Formats: sequence, C-alpha cells, structure tokens
Amino acid sequence: MALGQGSLLDDETTAELAPGKAPEGPPTGESSASAIDRWRYAKVIGSVVAVGLCVFVISRQVSNLGDPRGESNSRVVIDSETGEVFPNYRVRENDGSPYVNSSTGRRTLVPAEKCFWTRDGKAKLKPTYVLLNEYAGRKGPTMCPDCGRPVVGRNPPPPMELLSEAATRESGGK
Ligand SMILES: [Zn+2]
Repeated sequence: MALGQGSLLDDETTAELAPGKAPEGPPTGESSASAIDRWRYAKVIGSVVAVGLCVFVISRQVSNLGDPRGESNSRVVIDSETGEVFPNYRVRENDGSPYVNSSTGRRTLVPAEKCFWTRDGKAKLKPTYVLLNEYAGRKGPTMCPDCGRPVVGRNPPPPMELLSEAATRESGGK
C-alpha cells in the first residue's frame, strides 16, 4: 500500500509538472528572450556612447582640456560691476581674484560660476555664466538669471543622466 501510494504521488506530480512546462517553454520563450537580450545590448551600447560623448563635451567645458594651446591659466571671469563675461581670461602668475579688467584698469573681474540648467529642469551643455552675489557685494543667495535656480561657488552640475540626455539632444538637434 505504502509503495503503491508513493508511486502514485510521484506519477501525479510529474504528470502535473510536465504539461505545464512543455507547451510554454520552447516555442515562445527562447526567441523573445534573445530579442530582449539584443535590445538590451543595443540600449547599453547606446547609453555608453551617449555618456562617453557627454563626458568628452563636459570635460571640455568644465576644465581647459580642450584648449589647443594648453593655456591652463585661462578661465572664465565676470566683471562684478558690469556683468560682462570674459570667457578666456588669462590669469597672470601669482595674480589673485579680483583680476584687472584691462578696459577699465580696475580689479573687478571675479571667477564666473557656471549653471548648466535650463528653465524647464533639463541640462544644457553651454552654461550660463553667473556672478555670485558675494563677489558683487550683495547679500543673500545667488539666483541664476536664466533658470532661476540657486548658484553657489563651485556650482555643482546637473546629474550625469540629464547631461547625457542633453548631449544626445544637442548633438541630434544640429
Ligand atoms: Zn541657470
């Protein structure tokens, strides 16, 4: 009796499992799985390319890597009185901020902060240069005149995800 019941149970369980697995498995499963794999692969390659492009563009913007003459001592400064931006100001050795504005002869040039945000909450690769309030002798937090977001010293860029999206958008839009 005991043996008979045991084998009966085994038969039932294998019988239950077999029909469930057999029809579902081979026909639909494999082909769609490999298609998904290929799609995932394409997406990974695409995002790697986008991020790579983005890192390249951003690094040129943020540092002076893209400067062909290697002028590592040139930087973006802004006149604290007029708001005029000097995108490629050459800083003399041992010179400190504020720097001399050659057209006025006055030491009114201070480092400009970069804002990479757009008004609708996206990133952009061409920054808005912002004069910090503390350099202008004003109190309170600095707001970006373009997007209205707060800007601080060594202003942090938007998340990589948004920058990558901006790189894709701006390279495709040209
Ligand atoms: Zn802004």
